[in-house]
Amino acid sequence: MDIFKEMERRGHEQVIFNYDKATGLKAIIAIHDTTLGPALGGTRMLPYAAEDAALEDVLRLSEGMTYKAAAAGLDFGGGKTVILGDPAQDKSEGLFRALGRFVETLNGRYSTGEDVGTSEEDFLIALRETRHLVGLPPAYGGSGDTGDMTALGVINAMKAALMHKNGSSSLTGRRVAIQGLGKVGFHVAKRAVEEGAHVVAADINPHTVGRVASELGIEPTDPWAVLETRCDIFSPCALGNVINEDTAERLNCQIVAGSANNQLKDNSFGEALSQRGILYAPDFICNAGGLIQVADEVRGYHPDRVRHQVEAIYDLLLAIFREADAKGLSTTAVAMGRVEQRLSQVHAIHRIRT
Ligand code: NAD
Repeated sequence: MDIFKEMERRGHEQVIFNYDKATGLKAIIAIHDTTLGPALGGTRMLPYAAEDAALEDVLRLSEGMTYKAAAAGLDFGGGKTVILGDPAQDKSEGLFRALGRFVETLNGRYSTGEDVGTSEEDFLIALRETRHLVGLPPAYGGSGDTGDMTALGVINAMKAALMHKNGSSSLTGRRVAIQGLGKVGFHVAKRAVEEGAHVVAADINPHTVGRVASELGIEPTDPWAVLETRCDIFSPCALGNVINEDTAERLNCQIVAGSANNQLKDNSFGEALSQRGILYAPDFICNAGGLIQVADEVRGYHPDRVRHQVEAIYDLLLAIFREADAKGLSTTAVAMGRVEQRLSQVHAIHRIRT
């Protein structure tokens, strides 16, 4: 990959390659845009097939964090870390302490926390080397797991989409198909069931589906079938790129609203959904709940304030859907337009000397 060309194309400020020979840590930290404030974004650990794949992932994810923070009205920029390694085999105390030391060198310009492949325990280790962490357990001064607040945002996104499509936001009697029953997907399923929806769900881990099915009384299905399940709402809560050339035509829903980052392989698939009459709730708006929660830690976490901000995703999405209809644009294009407008306004007011 031509790194500077890619940074220029996506608008990145900084990409830092971190290597520690003692522990074997290989991590890339990408800081996309700090117009609104210091960068915030989780650390993902995956056994990437190639270094380019890790770099592509961190660039795309950190860019998404800028949009997510900006759209949610937060004063943070976008950043992300990827660790190249297998979370099942390559974790050690040294690895996460080394990561903590590298994060500390950025002196608050970037803070991080859990993401796919990393856990609370990993960051309790990193905490011994850096203060710039979010999403820690309450006993360590953090706000704890973000899965439920992210799910609350997704449920509000579903309600806004239902309201826009059908004039009623009620989930009662609606069929919701969830792909992935992890930290977020479980809470999306739980909240949807509580709201009276019929939930069909899949996970690549059969034990997870079995456990959640018996706990919540949902209908289990397999990971491929979930994409084609006839439903009102398809909710991707696993990994990204789920809406692509193989799947966009197979979805059998009227709404897509889920927590996964980068659901569309590229923005053309948003157009493809819209041409099929499927309303797409942009992922970086739907899944901002976790970021809203951890961003609040910086001011001294207050759950009521967080809930209020997460519930505002409903009004924000309704406005985006209406603007998209009025202008004949995709929902993603409208959401991005709003982000660009906020970034340029905040950038411009910084010319005022204080
Ligand atoms: P997780 O790792 O806890 O859960 C993901 C689940 O998806 C796992 O149970 C996994 O087995 C399953 N899965 C993976 N591939 C699958 C497939 N092809 N079909 C069905 N199931 C599959 O992760 P999470 O924290 O629940 O996050 C889910 C998604 O939401 C991720 O894309 C994450 O980046 C995004 N997200 C999470 C948060 C948060 O607060 N945790 C916030 C914003 C965005």
